[in-house]
Amino acid sequence: MEESLFLPVRYLKGVGPKRASAFEKIGVNTVEDLLYYFPKRYEDRRDPIFISGLKTDKAYTVKAEVLSFAQRRSFQRRGFQVTEITVRDSTGKLCCVWFNQPYLKEYFKAGTNLILHGKPEEYAGRLQMNSPEFEIVSDEDEPLNIGRLVPVYSCPNGMTQRYLRRIIKKAQDGYLSKIDDFLPFDIRSRENLFNRAKSLINIHFPASQQDQEEAYRRLSFEEFFIFELPLALRKLRRREKAGIAHNVERELADNFIEKLPFELTRGQQKVIAEIRADMAKPAAMQRLLQGDVGSGKTVVAVAACLTAVQGGYQAAFMVPTEVLARQHYEKIRSQLSGAGCQGGEIKIGLLTGSAKDKERKKIIKEIEAGRTQIVIGTHALLEESVKFKKLGLIVIDEQHKFGVGQRSLLPEKGSNPDVLIMTATPIPRTLAITLYGDLDVSVINELPPGRIPVKTVHFSKEGKRRAYELARNQILAGSQAYIVYPVIEESYALDIEGAKKMYEELRSGEFRDFRLALIHGRMKQAEQDEIMRDFKKGELDLLVSTTVLEVGIDVPNATCMIVEDAERFGLSQLHQLRGRVGRSSKESFCLLISNASSARSRARFEAMIKYNDGFCIAEEDLKIRGPGEFFGQRQSGLSELRIADPLRQMRLLKRAREAALKLVIKDPGLQQRANRPLKEQLLRRFPAYEKLIMTG
Ligand code: ADP
Ligand code: MG
Repeated sequence: MEESLFLPVRYLKGVGPKRASAFEKIGVNTVEDLLYYFPKRYEDRRDPIFISGLKTDKAYTVKAEVLSFAQRRSFQRRGFQVTEITVRDSTGKLCCVWFNQPYLKEYFKAGTNLILHGKPEEYAGRLQMNSPEFEIVSDEDEPLNIGRLVPVYSCPNGMTQRYLRRIIKKAQDGYLSKIDDFLPFDIRSRENLFNRAKSLINIHFPASQQDQEEAYRRLSFEEFFIFELPLALRKLRRREKAGIAHNVERELADNFIEKLPFELTRGQQKVIAEIRADMAKPAAMQRLLQGDVGSGKTVVAVAACLTAVQGGYQAAFMVPTEVLARQHYEKIRSQLSGAGCQGGEIKIGLLTGSAKDKERKKIIKEIEAGRTQIVIGTHALLEESVKFKKLGLIVIDEQHKFGVGQRSLLPEKGSNPDVLIMTATPIPRTLAITLYGDLDVSVINELPPGRIPVKTVHFSKEGKRRAYELARNQILAGSQAYIVYPVIEESYALDIEGAKKMYEELRSGEFRDFRLALIHGRMKQAEQDEIMRDFKKGELDLLVSTTVLEVGIDVPNATCMIVEDAERFGLSQLHQLRGRVGRSSKESFCLLISNASSARSRARFEAMIKYNDGFCIAEEDLKIRGPGEFFGQRQSGLSELRIADPLRQMRLLKRAREAALKLVIKDPGLQQRANRPLKEQLLRRFPAYEKLIMTG
């Protein structure tokens, strides 16, 4: 009976209320959770190293007996108390010390057998381990703790390694023999995977290194598979629903492209062709467009909008900030009229949260009547009152700024419209395909010609005068500059105060001879718009700002970006900020000011200096932060992955995805007998998927 796996751990013999609550704190509620509480590492205690064989090159594990014990004050450090023991085995003696842990007295009686794990160091002419991990071994539970690959866990409060091993072993003995494997047999045999019980045994107490690896592979596959299954179902479901076959042959979009003041890059052309092919098909497009900052995604999006418009449909273009919405609105309007494709005939609307009641009603009415053909807006577009007459295409710019929930709301406003999602946080392609498993992926892999890589330099706070000087020189040469201050939500008001103060200082100090303005997200929209407009027109030299500039802003004449307190920005964010400059053929600079010395901030600055390419930056960012944080835990569902690592196991992830796709095509309702345990497992983890499966 599978039921017993859901037995609360507190009913296990050996787990009292106190330990049960310690388990609960780390998310271990049931026997199943306990079995899935994986070790953080293993110790090879098959052939214990003898003391005579110890070196100082790495950590070793030895088995030895306590010979003597002493506690005393430290000679070197006042107020420190030292616990020192000498242990021996048949080949020699070893000294071990711990600081300020007087309770250790309880453990180290002469004659006690210990397993010690630590890195030996040379001290006063002999080998010593400082604060080694230790366990007391007794003969009765020896097979779990010695003579094998031994699991090492992070111990919840008040539990020892030995206790955890014993209780997990008990759970295995009592409950594993009865469990079903929810991974269908044909997948397991095709992928050559251990069954579930065997994996759950060997992940804790591997019979050999190889069995541990196999157990790890199976359990990782399982996680990937469960992660991919809903994506596969969603993809399938959408494919079956009728979408719009757009008329891609009319000339509106072509005219627009032809009249642009520049040639499209090959990357842009290729992606436009991919989007057209998708839009022509009767199925709804679900495409993710990746392209580095400045690669020219906006014109691609506009071409797609016009493709929808020329066949009589409306297009909605959603962006994360009002400033960006306004910028797109104005640029697209001028491109359409300048392009001579009778801009007057195509009606563009702008809808943001700050639109006044009367005006807003009017805009909404125009959209509902179908008179507005391209609607640009912020998440104000998602409001219930906004209805479209004939919504044919949705573009979501800077998608990483929206939650999954927000992203999926807009399509509800049409009848299965095409969707184009754009991002400047590129990720390795295979990873993109598998993580956004329900999307197709297009990539613009080049920048428009003539762009010079932005020169990035790191300054200490003491050296920032030099950064300012560089900015001044740029301005004197006819360019413009930004200075950005970090703003974190919790201290928003405080940070804005900081930015205001700096602005006053700069205005009366370093930059007193120039025209500068302050812009931040709490200012009235009209004010922000006016400042951006002035900056764009070249009537301002320097913009002091909070992160409202982070995404999308396009002022080609700006060549200098100064980032203050740069350590407070993530790597991708820094790259986005840098993307505000280097948008013309002039040389540009990104100056990072920070005194931070943590390894993480240093790694970020180094990556910024070394790489200009967004794909490299994203890969570095992934490495520094790990996938969960990189993609946003909740957003991506990656927190479900406990041991599987999408970066290091990309091939396995891909196989799991393929297996999931294959399975849902064969059995979209997961109704076949062989797939029923899988369905149960899926619904237990994600109850919300009931609907997805049923209608699949
Ligand atoms: P992003 O991909 O970051 O959204 P944008 O769409 O804002 O980039 O484009 C960046 C700048 O490059 C804009 O000023 C745009 O007009 C210009 N641009 C786009 N495509 C080309 C091209 N093929 N050649 C020259 N300039 C281009
Ligand atoms: Mg953009």
